[in-house]
Amino acid sequence: MDYLPLNLKLIDEPVTLIGGGKIAARKARLLLRAGAKLTVVAPDICMELRQASDANSITWINGTYAAAQLDDCLLVVAATSDRELNECIHRDARARSLPVNVVDAPDLCTVIFPSIIDRNPLLIAVSSSGTSPVLARILRRRIESMVPAAYGRLAEFAGRLRQRVKTAIPEETPRRLFWEQVLEGAVAEKVMAGREAEAQSLLEKRLASTGDLYTGEVYLVGAGPGDPDLLTFKAARLLQSADVVLYDRLVAPAIVDMARRDAECIYVGKRRADHAVPQEDINQLLLKFAQQGKRVIRLKGGDPFIFGRGGEEIDLLAQHGVPFQIVPGITAASGVACYAGIPLTHRDHAHSVRFVTGHLKDGSLAHDWSQFLSPTETLVFYMGLVGLPEICRQLLAVGRAADTPAALVERGTTLQQRVLTGTLSNLPELVAREKPAAPTLLIIGDVVRLHADLAWYGTEDAQ
Ligand code: SAH
Repeated sequence: MDYLPLNLKLIDEPVTLIGGGKIAARKARLLLRAGAKLTVVAPDICMELRQASDANSITWINGTYAAAQLDDCLLVVAATSDRELNECIHRDARARSLPVNVVDAPDLCTVIFPSIIDRNPLLIAVSSSGTSPVLARILRRRIESMVPAAYGRLAEFAGRLRQRVKTAIPEETPRRLFWEQVLEGAVAEKVMAGREAEAQSLLEKRLASTGDLYTGEVYLVGAGPGDPDLLTFKAARLLQSADVVLYDRLVAPAIVDMARRDAECIYVGKRRADHAVPQEDINQLLLKFAQQGKRVIRLKGGDPFIFGRGGEEIDLLAQHGVPFQIVPGITAASGVACYAGIPLTHRDHAHSVRFVTGHLKDGSLAHDWSQFLSPTETLVFYMGLVGLPEICRQLLAVGRAADTPAALVERGTTLQQRVLTGTLSNLPELVAREKPAAPTLLIIGDVVRLHADLAWYGTEDAQ
């Protein structure tokens, strides 16, 4: 982080603004909205500032800048077009340990103004750390359209009842669960419809019957193959509500970061043959947290029900009557194939696709290889890096053509994605030479030829 976003209380606090033009007026408007006691220093001021001065909403010092004008103020804003003067204001503010903003000169700022979505008392600030105000503004517009205008009223309502609810539910986790249900349910709808009295009596009713609201819950959630943007909306929403997050090696750090700041995030990742946390312990952990009344999210790479052992984890919960939800994710085959430009099916090349485990048990694979003979079926091997030479050898042995196209996609959908393309006969050699890093996905079949034309993502290929 280059800046720490903080909300500054300016009500009745003295702020000095140097400059009298249109840009200064824009800053003045914002500062006045925040309740500042504003002094404007400029030999001449624009119409808007003049009107504000006439209405006594600002104090205008009609003259040139002097360092003493900064004495006792809480914030300094310079909006002059004179670089030397701006530098001087910056120095004077720094000498007094005052936060200073110089419009359009990030190097002279110790504080910067974000783009604001104002649903007072609910405020959302968007900042690009000064790199691209336009980008921040575009993002702000998007958020504006997502946040109902009445959210401010809802925040006020919640603020008014905060103490009341705190007294009624002293414990933190159940109280948060209570608020989540209130703010996303019928009570919130009433507040936003302007029926606060009804909303409040409904809330009181809920407070009187909170017994069953506090049971823990487990969400088994697919986090997709790597690119955080491939997360589902549902996964993102549940992540925001979880108290505990258990995640795998395959889950992108950016996704874990989306959890609530006070959520407990536990790494239970597994590497091949090196089980950081044994499966049985993970199952027990899920159960333990849920029984403590917590909302637990178990994040799995890709889809939880595709080579994810999701079934086993849920089984124990089901036996103990713990409520759970299962949220699908984009599985590696689907995400990686798209990002690698290899359609898994194609009218001219493949009419079916098969997901196969390439995980070796005691050094070999227990497949009936004769079922993999169809030239119009795409084969996708998960966990097939170590077993790759064996997979290719077995397919050749049962009669697949030596020139059958095959691709190994390394770290698909991440920025490190690399596609190694070859054939059943030469891919093992290429892989031995290039030493791709896990995770990798092996795709076999005619569709791999299309990659040459459809590649659009990641680093250069290796052949
Ligand atoms: N449940 C997961 C699969 C877990 S098995 C899913 O639905 O995707 C782990 C295997 O998935 C890895 O060995 C690899 O073959 C594949 N995999 C997962 N993410 C991948 C990625 N970003 N790129 C390539 N392969 C990936």
